[in-house]
Amino acid sequence: MKDDVEKYRTMLEELQVTLKQEIALANEECAPIQLNGTMGRISRNDAIQVQQMALEIKRRREERLIRIQTAFSRMEKGTYGDCCRCHNRINKARLDTIPDVVLCIRCASQPRS
Ligand SMILES: [Zn+2]
Repeated sequence: MKDDVEKYRTMLEELQVTLKQEIALANEECAPIQLNGTMGRISRNDAIQVQQMALEIKRRREERLIRIQTAFSRMEKGTYGDCCRCHNRINKARLDTIPDVVLCIRCASQPRS
């Protein structure tokens, strides 16, 4: 498992770099829209919708960054790869796909109780 943790640490570090770049890029792209009178009502609504979508994507990226950071701290504590709810080991294939995942597949597919 020690080697695995190192592997996931590298994956998470790469993911973190990519996310930070994406957030920085998105910040440049979605400068606040000028809501002035030169735009028609429809294009103004479109612009607002596009901006809200961009904000939503940004929010998700930021949430993921936080999750990656908590994954690093779980590595420090030696609990990385354990399900946060049932404390069973999370399937390796699942970690390979989503290294920042916090729930095993069983818990993730069950509604919160
Ligand atoms: Zn679980």
